[in-house]
Amino acid sequence: MRIDLHTHSTVSDGTESPSEVIRAAAAAKIDTVALTDHDSVSGWQAASAMAAALGLGFVPGVEVSAKHRGISIHLLGYWPDPHAQAMTDMFAKTRRARVARAQEMTERIAKQYPITWDDVMVRAGDADTVGRPHIADALIDAGHFEDRSAAFAAALMPGSPFYVPHYAPDVLDAVRAVRAAGGVPVFAHPGADLRGRVVADQVIVDMADAGLAGLEIDHRDHSPQQRERLSALAERLGLIRTGSSDYHGAGKPNQLGENTTSEEAFDALHAQRG
Ligand code: AMP
Ligand code: FE
Ligand code: FE
Ligand code: ZN
Repeated sequence: MRIDLHTHSTVSDGTESPSEVIRAAAAAKIDTVALTDHDSVSGWQAASAMAAALGLGFVPGVEVSAKHRGISIHLLGYWPDPHAQAMTDMFAKTRRARVARAQEMTERIAKQYPITWDDVMVRAGDADTVGRPHIADALIDAGHFEDRSAAFAAALMPGSPFYVPHYAPDVLDAVRAVRAAGGVPVFAHPGADLRGRVVADQVIVDMADAGLAGLEIDHRDHSPQQRERLSALAERLGLIRTGSSDYHGAGKPNQLGENTTSEEAFDALHAQRG
């Protein structure tokens, strides 16, 4: 069994539609795949229909943007009720804040690398959730950078003069909102320290107390040191270990199935479904 629990579509910052992501998963010999767009569940229907047609297991998921004292945290939520009001309100608020933030970043960037807000909107297409990758795509179209990675390195990372943060809920509130919706929360790439600051062990302890189910340990953005630290923490706190690709289509080098979750871990997550 190959289980990949973290992928993105054009609903957020992936480059393939939800049904294309599922087709790509089938081609990559994945048996069970989760669609986890940022702050939106609007890809579930198309993805689950395609998964049923192709005989793949489908896990409806979401990657919630959250925060702890200014440090950005991504929280995966599996099987939440898509109609749970508190959770969908939280996503809507974040999505609105993301648009204003992308506009502000675009204005700042345009002074050095000419692009317009329209260029960014064209690249966002009908995405529900706008993010820095759409700004990166506009910069690539305008010929300023080769690919998203280069655009991020030069202009889009925290610490860049163009970087603007956006509203996101506190991570303990996000954990509770996913649980209240009957979902199973897993901390996405908790040790990805090349992207920005990561949280200390105590924050993970507090998240576990609030209802966290697991840690996404097997992820390409983790160094051997981070894997070791997180494995010890998972063991100590009784958290489930997951692994995933964080596939974004052509938007990132990450390949479907490059990291996977064991059947045992998957069953343990599924058993916690509310
Ligand atoms: P945002 O959601 O606007 O904060 O942007 C974060 C998203 O940008 C992440 O979900 C990744 O998909 C993407 N990202 C972050 N760092 C990089 C990078 N170095 N290269 C390409 N994409 C990146
Ligand atoms: Fe992303
Ligand atoms: Fe993420
Ligand atoms: Zn992701």
